[in-house]
Amino acid sequence: MNPQEKPLVIPIFIPHSGCPHQCAFCNQSIIAQKDGPLPDHSEIQEIVQHYLKFKGRRKKVEIAFFGGNFLGLDPQIIVTLLEHIGPYIREKKIDGIRFSTRPDTITKERLALIAPYPVSAVEVGVQSMNDAVLSASGRGHESLDTVKAMDLLKQIPVKIGVQVMAGLPADNEISLLESTRKIAGLCPDFARIYPLMVLKGSRMEKWYAEGLYQPLALAEAVRLVKHMYRIFRNAGVEVIRMGLQASEMMEDASMVLAGPWHPAFGHLVFSEMLYDLVCERLDQCPGLLTSEEVGLRVHPRALPRLRGERNNNMKKLNIAYPNHRFRVLTDEGLSMDEIEIF
Ligand code: SF4
Repeated sequence: MNPQEKPLVIPIFIPHSGCPHQCAFCNQSIIAQKDGPLPDHSEIQEIVQHYLKFKGRRKKVEIAFFGGNFLGLDPQIIVTLLEHIGPYIREKKIDGIRFSTRPDTITKERLALIAPYPVSAVEVGVQSMNDAVLSASGRGHESLDTVKAMDLLKQIPVKIGVQVMAGLPADNEISLLESTRKIAGLCPDFARIYPLMVLKGSRMEKWYAEGLYQPLALAEAVRLVKHMYRIFRNAGVEVIRMGLQASEMMEDASMVLAGPWHPAFGHLVFSEMLYDLVCERLDQCPGLLTSEEVGLRVHPRALPRLRGERNNNMKKLNIAYPNHRFRVLTDEGLSMDEIEIF
């Protein structure tokens, strides 16, 4: 997507407000702030004014309430927060509102509250469709809640996002991919995939210290998320983010005690997908390996993906195909996930 077509997103943090309890992977010290004050009118004005300066040539601006369970807030608070940005909407300075929320808080009554406002996207914290995994993660809702929530959301004109986690307690590869297929089958518009990290102060920290939970290794997380990405992509669901956790507190890396954290996790996944694609093509078309030199052509911006972190993909290709030399070229006419082999 052209950067100017992407909306400017103004984040408004509602730190864990509206959460009925603490999920096992969430951070307790931050959860403890849940009764703290939500941003008031003047704070929201300040945030909006500040971010609007960066609109540049972008066509749309959206407000995003994140870091909590938006529809779990007191109804009066939901309306008050939305009303704080009402003037910007009327002046057409803000085009849409988005927020994340738990599936079990999506009800007809709550959706009626937001109906008068231009809500453009609702992100549902699905995490898993496996009830044993949801229970082990202390989510406090079941997969059926997600099915019902998606049904309700489909009756209103919003884009539906899903947040999904890899590496949850009691999960394994089979249940994770089965869960991903079920989520993709609910036809959301987009997805975010977060590998689970053990956060300081979370219940998982204790389980990890006691040896009751082992996080995914980075390579394993990349491999699993790659499979999840493919399931979503094949179902026509756009994956807009891979990496970090359901809460943006993950931006503070010192909170992470263990787990597959990497500053460019999505890049690792895309790199591995390109590597797989090259091997698949070469193995399917032996004719591509008739000469010693094999050419690989990608979009210039996909070059770091093709090479992989620290040129890892090229090193792996040299080991897998020791009788060949790989020459890398670029072509702006190709899409980011296309590759030409010659
Ligand atoms: S994971 Fe979501 S619902 Fe659970 S405590 Fe954290 S913010 Fe609240």
